[in-house]
Amino acid sequence: MKKLVITFLALMGLVCKAEINILPTPEFAVESEGLFILSKSTAVIHCDQAKDSATWLVKKLNKPTGYKLKLQNKQNTKNISNAIILDYVDSESLGAEGYILAVEQNGVMILANNEAGFFYGCQSLLQLLPAEICDEQKSDTKWEIACLTIKDRPRFPWRSFMLDSGRQYQKPEFIKKYLDQMATLKMNKFHWHLTEGQGWRIEIKKYPKLTSIGSKVAQGKEQQGFYTQEQIKDIVAYAKKLHIDVVPEIDVPGHSEAALIAYPEYSCMGKAPKSVMGFTSVLFCGGNEKTYQFMEDIFTEVCELFPSEYIHIGGDEAPKADWKKCPQCQKKIKEQGLKNEHELQIYFTNRLARFLHQKGRKVICWGDVVTMPGPAMEKNVVVHWWNYRGHKDKALKEAIRRNQEIICNTNYYSYLNFPLTPWNQYRQNRTFDLKTCYEKNPSYLKPEYTDKHENIIGMGTCLWTDWFVQEYMIDRRVFPRIYAMAEQMWHKGKLTSFDDFYKKLKTHYPRLKAAKIDYGPAMIDEMSKGYKWD
Ligand SMILES: [Zn+2]
Repeated sequence: MKKLVITFLALMGLVCKAEINILPTPEFAVESEGLFILSKSTAVIHCDQAKDSATWLVKKLNKPTGYKLKLQNKQNTKNISNAIILDYVDSESLGAEGYILAVEQNGVMILANNEAGFFYGCQSLLQLLPAEICDEQKSDTKWEIACLTIKDRPRFPWRSFMLDSGRQYQKPEFIKKYLDQMATLKMNKFHWHLTEGQGWRIEIKKYPKLTSIGSKVAQGKEQQGFYTQEQIKDIVAYAKKLHIDVVPEIDVPGHSEAALIAYPEYSCMGKAPKSVMGFTSVLFCGGNEKTYQFMEDIFTEVCELFPSEYIHIGGDEAPKADWKKCPQCQKKIKEQGLKNEHELQIYFTNRLARFLHQKGRKVICWGDVVTMPGPAMEKNVVVHWWNYRGHKDKALKEAIRRNQEIICNTNYYSYLNFPLTPWNQYRQNRTFDLKTCYEKNPSYLKPEYTDKHENIIGMGTCLWTDWFVQEYMIDRRVFPRIYAMAEQMWHKGKLTSFDDFYKKLKTHYPRLKAAKIDYGPAMIDEMSKGYKWD
């Protein structure tokens, strides 16, 4: 093992741009002569810390190869050859999620100093095998890997994919398929948008009407479901094995029509909202103490279900017309010495932030909450910058000024629901291709706001389901453009040219096909005549 590491360190000076097609691109990679051939007699040997990753890897390898690879603890192993070895290395330079992967003719070695590192090393190894490895069916492929050495670690600790299950419901199996793909792309936060005007999708035992009424307020066929607490626990556990935290979003005080149809007493006027489309000014009342109790009850159950350090509380697009008219909201503004309704939303955010701080959590809110100056915010509030189309970098700058942590996730160009060409209400100015996503993402273009700013914890990408993006339409929007996002989140160092990236990406199409992803076109040239987004 030591010999390998030393060899590798000697090679580190040679930054190689070879034909290694792993995506996201590893930090350093060097090719060498020869092939390793995975066979039925290959052993998978692991140290104690790598047990889970090794078990996961064997499961992944056994199905398509039809082998029954043996799993062995390193301590019980004497003769090591023709093996994949996962071993601990005491290297600070790998950081919290990094790994070294060395493939030689007589074996493969994955070195890391923690479980996430082992897991990502396994993910890279799978990408080196033929595409059939992504299929569940047994294949007679020759399982060979060209020899190489990789040292890799992520650019950002926060790498999220958001799915809007509020406007449209998706089945739990679909969510799991996305978790698998996220893991392939080394993304580690599944931001699950669980509530919307068009649907409340999370079972809350104390308030059963949230789902018995709130999950059925919209008309569509796929707008009638919700996730039981048992289903949620199952998804959280599934994600954990893939080193993904599930970060739930309960969007308040706006985008809450579904909840307020179920419990109108928590709105300002005490009346159920008439519309669930778009977003309305029917908000949770920011002046009523009973609203805060209701919120705390809900977030208590949310925290029991989701061990994530981060809880998202939404806060976007909350027009204040009702708050302006509401005697209780106005009373609260006066009592608290606030200037206006915008400041009342900061107060509302701080109340929830303090409550969740007691539970050891950080809270995330969309940038809307800080687009205007106002009172200080709690330290545990993270600002999720999104509205580049409307406010450019206003929220980002304000969050930096306030010294809050920040997630970069601008609607230009990380909202993958914007299709490649116009569809439904997505006009020409709400479309983009892979090249634009790769080259023009504002949060990538401005290094003064990203790598060089310690407040920025990472980047996100989203799939919103507005305008009736149903489950079967999601793959063709997300894939393959999500690869460009993953590359920006993970790859440490300068991005390669778009042409190089695109060439590499195309080698992944057979993998997506094998994994039964109904991916769409990345560029206009790839679009068949009459291609349909629905
Ligand atoms: Zn009110």
